[in-house]
Amino acid sequence: MDRRTLIAGNWKMNKTPAETESYIKSFMKLLHNDSRIEVLLLPPFTGLERAGKLLSETTIALGGQDLHFETGGAFTGEISSEMLKACGCSYVLVGHSERRALFEEGDRLINRKLHAALAAGLHPILCVGETLEEHRQGQVEERITSQLGADLAQIKAAEASLVVIAYEPIWAIGTGETATPMGAQGTIHVIREWIAAAYDQNVAETMRILYGGSVKPENAASLLHQPDIDGALVGGASLFPDSFAQIVAASH
Ligand code: PEP
Repeated sequence: MDRRTLIAGNWKMNKTPAETESYIKSFMKLLHNDSRIEVLLLPPFTGLERAGKLLSETTIALGGQDLHFETGGAFTGEISSEMLKACGCSYVLVGHSERRALFEEGDRLINRKLHAALAAGLHPILCVGETLEEHRQGQVEERITSQLGADLAQIKAAEASLVVIAYEPIWAIGTGETATPMGAQGTIHVIREWIAAAYDQNVAETMRILYGGSVKPENAASLLHQPDIDGALVGGASLFPDSFAQIVAASH
């Protein structure tokens, strides 16, 4: 089954709207169009509108880093699916490990956000991953399948195919440590088998599952050429147009 590679750049809390514009202009010059690869930028909320205008005539997709589960109302500091869509977003990150660890987001909240994203027609990128402690104690499978079960609760097969999963071992995010290609492939294969059992073989074969955690131009090809790894969620190395373009090129 052919799954379109997705290379997503999560800028986290970096770049003003002006910096967003200069990044996109430089990045566009470095990117070689290839219809088998989808490129996605995830700027902070304040950069979305400008990014959306610049990307509207391109094949590069735009996404938000988070959303609220309600469509509007008295939720100070939050952003809704409708606001993301109005800026041109088609994707949204849900349950990034920094949201889970630093902002105490639990699986119940993440599940509500997933439902909200799907109801709005956005593709959620659901992030799952184990801590270093869980990794050392051999609890990777247990941790990840428990997150998947809780986060995807009440999501039907037709909607599940729209979800992208990002396997991001927490010990590898922003640390320079990367899972080995075999290790990442093994866990992502377990995720695909779990999806097949929870839904069906068709959902498992169509769902894109990404790896994230210190992906760089030097290690991208070996990770991206694994059979079950359908792309990458890139943090630090996506902040520079040249290194992000090199990661995209490595997935060819
Ligand atoms: C991330 O933010 O999802 C991420 C994987 O970050 P980094 O590439 O910097 O480890």
